[in-house]
Amino acid sequence: MALKPCRECGKQVSTEAATCPKCGVSSPAQYAGALAECRKCGKGIGSREKQCPHCGRKDPTQVSNVGCAIQSILIVAVVLLIVRYCGGPFSGGP
Ligand SMILES: [Zn+2]
Ligand SMILES: [Zn+2]
Repeated sequence: MALKPCRECGKQVSTEAATCPKCGVSSPAQYAGALAECRKCGKGIGSREKQCPHCGRKDPTQVSNVGCAIQSILIVAVVLLIVRYCGGPFSGGP
């Protein structure tokens, strides 16, 4: 008998439980879509959830690409700076 967090209240319930003993939702271990993890609180939620029922995070299963984009831009900027300082046309000075 496995335990899963209730899809409504997050309480650990049996996967075989018909209703959640805490909030009374039916099939508490059954999620609408595939089971995913909230990227903020790490609790199990449906992958199609628009909002985490536990912590309220919007798009809890969507991994943002903003961080990656900024990192890529930074890497490119650093590389350009290195190229400039190491034999670029601006390295000579007066
Ligand atoms: Zn519940
Ligand atoms: Zn969450």
